[in-house]
Amino acid sequence: HSPIHIVGGGLAGCEAAYAIASAGIPVVLHEMRPVRSTDAHKTDSLAELVCSNSFRSDDAGTNAVGLLHAEMRLAGSLVMRCADANQVPAGGALAVDREGFALAVTAAIDAHPLITVERGEVDGLPPEAWGETIVATGPLTSPGLASAIRELTGEDSLAFFDAIAPIVHFDSIDLSKAWFQSRYDKVGPGGTGKDYINCPLDRETYEAFVAGLVAGDKTAFKDFESTPYFDGCLPIEVMAERGPETLRHGPMKPMGLTNAHDPAVKPYAVVQLRQDNALGTLYNMVGFQTKLKYAEQVRLFRTIPGLEEAEFARLGGLHRNTFLNSPVLLDGELRLKSAPRLRFAGQITGCEGYVESAAIGILAGRFAVAGRLGRDVIPPPPTTAFGALLGHITGGHLAEDGPGPRSFQPMNVNFGLFPPIEVPKEPGKRLRGTEKSIARKQAMSARALADIRVWLEGNALPAIAA
Ligand code: FAD
Repeated sequence: HSPIHIVGGGLAGCEAAYAIASAGIPVVLHEMRPVRSTDAHKTDSLAELVCSNSFRSDDAGTNAVGLLHAEMRLAGSLVMRCADANQVPAGGALAVDREGFALAVTAAIDAHPLITVERGEVDGLPPEAWGETIVATGPLTSPGLASAIRELTGEDSLAFFDAIAPIVHFDSIDLSKAWFQSRYDKVGPGGTGKDYINCPLDRETYEAFVAGLVAGDKTAFKDFESTPYFDGCLPIEVMAERGPETLRHGPMKPMGLTNAHDPAVKPYAVVQLRQDNALGTLYNMVGFQTKLKYAEQVRLFRTIPGLEEAEFARLGGLHRNTFLNSPVLLDGELRLKSAPRLRFAGQITGCEGYVESAAIGILAGRFAVAGRLGRDVIPPPPTTAFGALLGHITGGHLAEDGPGPRSFQPMNVNFGLFPPIEVPKEPGKRLRGTEKSIARKQAMSARALADIRVWLEGNALPAIAA
């Protein structure tokens, strides 16, 4: 076999390299550190954790990232093996000794006879002579490679910041207060005139909300993130600081909307939520990208009528982050449609976080192996955490919907990305609220673990002793 090249020795690149080499195919892994570093990395270890040392919840029964841990362990994940071996106490979370973890991954990669690590920056598109290449250069992809990718994919296809508006689970929105309606009942392509969920605010609630935004505790930008705000994606609190009326004339304008529950009373302001995934289980708060601290977001956004009990699949944020408009650019096996020799993995594909990035690295590696062996590439079922995450990246997201900033934004794995499930009813027992939500998550987890086992068995990598 000729080697498969991988650019980026982070969480995703190491997983992909390990999966491919474990199947008997040689890999050349290109990592630019220590020749050139990023603004967040501090060492020359592979798979360095740049910030927190936590892989979040390890509860596979009721937490989507815990479920992803379990699926990755079943898939033979190198990252999970090294995390488990370097665990530090953290309650229900999986946290690691960061140095021990990164050294363990580095040692496993260095020791693998089929992996060659080359230290040096790939300062442009990977040469055609390399053939099939996986790009896993992460949120801080070096500028030379980033601009080459942007040139290849088009100006709007690679973002350098994310602008994340909070996402709410549909079934936690109170539709006795909120109502479905598009502004001026406008019917867009594929729309019904009732595409948005609207939450009405009276004057008093609006003014208290704006005051809360201005006073709220915000996360500071890191030094290297200081940047002029871009693309009309101003954080909502920055808009609020410009004056009490700004939001009412911006994303919270009440024009063209009639409160279905109380048509005689004109709302003073309106928060709109737009469907975020094809399943209709998630809705994003339109224009609400924010740097408010998470606890502050939950507290403030629950003062909005209709969102008092909102459960958030994702809270808002704004960070330096290099990522592709993957639903448009990538095919179902993570290859660039316009140049299929390039496959992408990790956070650059639009997933978010250490665990998710590593998981997409495993998939990219497995897809590359299947392709090299001439097998059909069969993606994991959408009922699994692997499949739900892949669906967010490559397909499950709604198509672009008109002018304005594009809607694809990075996301952690969460149960809103999974197809809904009916919880089996026990005779004489009626579940409510939290109990119902836990039962639903447990049912989704059980379904996922059963389905991933079948998929892994049917798509086993060739067993080659390392
Ligand atoms: P990375 O782990 O970043 O790996 C990419 C690798 O590619 C790096 O080693 C880099 O040196 C290398 N590289 C880049 N360009 C080139 C090039 N041209 N040639 C060769 N090599 C190159 N996630 C969490 O889960 N928890 C957190 O607390 C958290 N905090 C974060 C804080 C910051 C400041 C940032 C930027 C990110 C944070 N993340 C966090 C996200 C997390 O870092 C990513 O999800 C994860 O590291 C992505 O894995 P990856 O393999 O895609 O990229």
